[in-house]
Parts: sequence; C-alpha cells; structure tokens
Amino acid sequence: MEASGPVAASPCIFCAIAEKRAPSYVVYEDAQTLAFLDIAPLSRGHTLIIPKAHVDRITDLPPVQYASVLATVTEICRRMERLSRDYNIGVNQGPLAGQIVFHLHFHVIPRYPNQVGGFPRERLPLVPEEARTLLKELGPG
Ligand code: 5GP
Ligand code: ZN
Repeated sequence: MEASGPVAASPCIFCAIAEKRAPSYVVYEDAQTLAFLDIAPLSRGHTLIIPKAHVDRITDLPPVQYASVLATVTEICRRMERLSRDYNIGVNQGPLAGQIVFHLHFHVIPRYPNQVGGFPRERLPLVPEEARTLLKELGPG
C-alpha cells in the first residue's frame, strides 16, 4: 500500500532549525551549511555549525560536502577571533562522547581568561538580548 498524506517532518531538531521550522539565532548561512548560537552556551559566543542535509556522524558526511562544512567552520573561527583568539573546535561523536543531538555539528567555543580551569558545570540559557548582541559582534563584518 502506498503512503498517503504529507510526509512526516523529520524529528531532528537541527533539521528543523536548518529548514526554519524551529527558531535559532543564525550567525552564518549558505546553501549547504548553517551556523547558529548554541541554546545553552559553554561560553559567550558558543556557536554550532551544521551541514543542512542530515547526517548523524562525520563519517556519514558525503565527501562532496567536506569543503563547504570546513569553510563554514573556518569562517566562524575567523569571526570568533573578535571575541577571543582562543577557542575549542569540537565534535562529540556518539553518546559516550557526549553527543546528544544526532545531526552532525561542530562546536566552536571561545575561551576567556576566567575559564582557564575548564568549562562550567552549569550551562546558562542563551537570553535573547545577549543573542542579539552576539549576532552583531559575529556578523559578516
Ligand atoms: P552535543 O552534545 O550533541 O555535541 O551538543 C549539542 C549541542 O546542541 C548542545 O551544546 C546544546 O546546548 C545544543 N542544542 C540542543 N538543542 C538545541 C536547540 O534547539 N537549539 C540550539 N541553538 N542549540 C541546541
Ligand atoms: Zn537532522
């Protein structure tokens, strides 16, 4: 029997963000990739970069997309250097590594002098006023 009616939307939250079915604070966007502020930042400016097309893991990323994803990660790093020249770039891969959203994403997490000991245990939610300020600071320039 053929399926009828609308195809169910993907339950993936980052697909929803990429397709603008869910809100986010977009730092950068192009045809293949999106960068947006993390909703529970580990530091001020914490940004996520995704390929718009859903893949769970970096090993699932089609090679034709390698360049576009890396270019966006690098563009975000370049902009992040307005906030701090020091930052971590990371990918959590699998639950044991702390992955909680199973749509490939790169974290770019700026580091500040008051954080030398590590990341905070408690993550504060991103508040709209701060997000709007950050979007100006991390804009195309
Ligand atoms: P993971 O642990 O999977 O590498 O990281 C997932 C990241 O996505 C976390 O830092 C978390 O705060 C962030 N996150 C989870 N859900 C949302 C959301 O709906 N919007 C945004 N902007 N970030 C999210
Ligand atoms: Zn997805």
